[in-house]
Amino acid sequence: MIRSEAARRRLIRALADSVILHAEELTRLDQAIGDADHGLNMSRGFRAVLDDLDRIAALALPQALGAVGTTLVMKVGGASGPLFGTLFLQLGKSLPEPADAAGLVAAAAAALDAVRARGKSDPGAKTMLDVLAPVVAALRAGERDPARLSALADAAAEATRPMRALRGRASFLGERSIGHVDPGARSSALLIGAACAVLSAAAPTGEAADLQAGASDGAFGAPDAGP
Ligand code: ADP
Ligand code: MG
Repeated sequence: MIRSEAARRRLIRALADSVILHAEELTRLDQAIGDADHGLNMSRGFRAVLDDLDRIAALALPQALGAVGTTLVMKVGGASGPLFGTLFLQLGKSLPEPADAAGLVAAAAAALDAVRARGKSDPGAKTMLDVLAPVVAALRAGERDPARLSALADAAAEATRPMRALRGRASFLGERSIGHVDPGARSSALLIGAACAVLSAAAPTGEAADLQAGASDGAFGAPDAGP
């Protein structure tokens, strides 16, 4: 899974583009229930990742994800910097190399737990966790289809709209936080959508098959599609 430098480059660029291209939308969401900086925060972090892409993509996948996490912690700021940073740092620490489907699911679960601990929060508080938790639950239940995982993440972000925020800046608004999608939930769905798109765009023997196979090493160990 994502074993070549070209594949790592595609993945990291897709993750970065997903938030940079939606920065205005993320900022609008944060304008409604926060301080209007989420788009700016996230795109600052991921622009720094892109500035360092040559170095990061040359690393093995766990180290590359860790390097993304370190950059986000240093550059994003706000509440979301340490939280998204923790997500990528823990993915990097937990992902085996080479990864198989079971390793990916375990790493995603460990990353979710790390974000919960870092934010002292749980799903249901109208945060990024309300997207991450159902996606990890689906992975644990055996869902391997990138398109369905991506759609699930989008629906989970939208499902934060009627929630009342119990954590983060939006919680200061109390009842008035109801009726708006949480910005961090939306950026989480964008990142998951980008990762899923890279996996499903790969050739049948490549990354998509890796994830779908639920496979031990067969497809997961297959060479990546060309550049
Ligand atoms: P700030 O709130 O400092 O301005 P951002 O606007 O960049 O930071 O990020 C806000 C997002 O961070 C929220 O939409 C929410 O998803 C997430 N968030 C904030 N606090 C927590 C927390 N304790 N646990 C999980 N996620 C949180
Ligand atoms: Mg904010």
